[in-house]
Amino acid sequence: MKYPRNSYWHESADNIIKVAKNEETLDDKNFDVLIIGAGLTGLTTAYLLKDDGYKIGIIDETAIGYGVSGYTTAKITVQHNVIYDYLINNFSLEEAKQYLKANEEGLKLIKTIIEANNIQCDFKEQTSYVYAANDDELKLIKVELEAYKKLGIDGFYEKEPALPNHALGAIGIRNQGQFNPLKYLYSLYNILNNSDSCKIYEKVRALNIEPHNGHIDVSTEAGTIHADKVISASHYPFDNSFGLYFLRLYQDKSYVIAARTKEKPFEGMYINVKDPIYSIRYHYSEKENLLILAGGNHRSGEKENEEYSYKELEDFLNTNFEGAEIVSKWSSQDCMTYDKIPYIGLYSNSIDNLYVATGFKKWGMTHSAAAAIILRNKILNIDDDFSEIFNPSRITLTQSAKEFFSSTKSILTGFLKRIAPVPDELHGIEAGKGKIINYKDRKIGVYKNENDDYYCINPVCAHLKCSLSFNEAEKTWDCPCHGSRYDIRGNILEGPTVKPLDKISIKKPSKM
Ligand SMILES: Cc1cc2nc3c(=O)[nH]c(=O)nc-3n(C[C@H](O)[C@H](O)[C@H](O)COP(=O)(O)OP(=O)(O)OC[C@H]3O[C@@H](n4cnc5c(N)ncnc54)[C@H](O)[C@@H]3O)c2cc1C
Repeated sequence: MKYPRNSYWHESADNIIKVAKNEETLDDKNFDVLIIGAGLTGLTTAYLLKDDGYKIGIIDETAIGYGVSGYTTAKITVQHNVIYDYLINNFSLEEAKQYLKANEEGLKLIKTIIEANNIQCDFKEQTSYVYAANDDELKLIKVELEAYKKLGIDGFYEKEPALPNHALGAIGIRNQGQFNPLKYLYSLYNILNNSDSCKIYEKVRALNIEPHNGHIDVSTEAGTIHADKVISASHYPFDNSFGLYFLRLYQDKSYVIAARTKEKPFEGMYINVKDPIYSIRYHYSEKENLLILAGGNHRSGEKENEEYSYKELEDFLNTNFEGAEIVSKWSSQDCMTYDKIPYIGLYSNSIDNLYVATGFKKWGMTHSAAAAIILRNKILNIDDDFSEIFNPSRITLTQSAKEFFSSTKSILTGFLKRIAPVPDELHGIEAGKGKIINYKDRKIGVYKNENDDYYCINPVCAHLKCSLSFNEAEKTWDCPCHGSRYDIRGNILEGPTVKPLDKISIKKPSKM
């Protein structure tokens, strides 16, 4: 298991996947196209390429469905909160149209794949809304509605949204969608497994990418793979040699609750504009209908105690859905870019045949499908009129100063913590907690469990050497710089790191 918590999607979709055990060795294997990462981006791209005559290899460091795609709220919409007024004003009307068109194509592709393959994934056409929780937000959604008109989006204003939390108004876009993301992902996996052109290898971590003249080598834990073309669909690009993605991306975390409510489920998928942001929708399935509530957003590694984020969400649930019963809760993080536009295309201008798709900023359902279309077009040299805005090598003046400053601050904090003094306190660690302490003239990260067992690691991220923080809610060591996460033993839970933490042995303290 990748994360400490399964999501509701894992529990409800487990019976769909038919995992084929791949016994072949990967060392020295050749593919026309190698895809790193079997989340929605990787598998949708493979789906589109599977009939183009390529031999495709797909590797994933974990079991299928344990990337972010298994922890999403799965609203499939081109309504990415408020974005279009921002795009028109900070880029241009033309570029805003490109962003919209790419995501419309993504939405269309998901619907087509579901229909063509009769995928049972609880897909439901829905209206997507951005609602106003206060007067400030009301002004913002009205401005966004004006942007819809300029772009030809068939949007509308709803004075009385169907929400229980006294929304002041909402703007809507019809004919969007929602689904169970893992029922969909696992069905894609089954289709690809049955296709002669694709081979999927689970639990194979890519460690390094090395371009050569005419081909690319990807070293993995299972040997070196050679490919003509490589797609990095690993969520956060793990290779730091090119593209400087570690400076151009940060991760932002959200918390999700699936709950049974006493009220009759309402139609529509909702989100408000500014913090505290709540994303609210019902999930309809044959088994039962559940409320899916998300919120508590914060930059990864920045929250002192993540239990508070769950608490905030539970307070919102209890206030607005009296008597609700929590069925499942989980958290996850997504990659954010500073100009709010994903990176989809060539990984770096200086390397041919290496592609990337990342930075979906919690709108990865349509973006991952749009990325699949764009990447296939690039590989087949097909021109399109919507991919330029996503060019990863773009230089935009519109970097969000606030978020960039916050990022620099987090990275600095991550580095500075390494030289800050810490107490010698092995005795003072409470059961179920983790702490960085001095031990024999060096800093160590210690977690103590209820049986008085100590788990000690070097608390420096193996990715780019930031100091780690202990996440009490999920019992993990988290990196505030780029979002890597490790379990109490130092094993990798989430990239971009590709190396585990050093384990440290200590002498167990005698009882006081
Ligand atoms: C709480 C939350 C709610 C969200 N809600 C929505 C929503 O309602 N609508 C929406 O549109 N978007 C939403 N998103 C965003 C969306 O879920 C993501 O953008 C999307 O799932 C990303 O898909 P992906 O395939 O790029 O990444 P992933 O699903 O993370 O797939 C990447 C895969 O790469 C693998 N990998 C990583 N490193 C390596 C390596 N070195 N070697 C091999 N494999 C590797 C991982 O194991 C993983 O399986 C949400 C995100 C969060 C966090």
